Amino acid sequence: MPRLRTPTLTIKKCPQCGEDVEIFSSDAEVQCYKCGLTVFNDTNLCVQWCAHAKECWGPELYERLKKDDNEQVEKAH
Ligand SMILES: [Zn+2]
Ligand SMILES: [Zn+2]
Repeated sequence: MPRLRTPTLTIKKCPQCGEDVEIFSSDAEVQCYKCGLTVFNDTNLCVQWCAHAKECWGPELYERLKKDDNEQVEKAH
């Protein structure tokens, strides 16, 4: 039997409507049941794809995360 790590449940705030969205650590993304927005669990996915990434992380952290991401991409080339 494969040993499965029990996923932890986190509550995230939907950046669009402010509704509490439950997301399991095993899920990469979850849809807000109220407004249908995709709420990302993974930081990098959110920074890249989330329409509200700036609100998800705050403007300062968002800029840092975005910069980190660009640097990683450059290194990969
Ligand atoms: Zn929502
Ligand atoms: Zn987001």
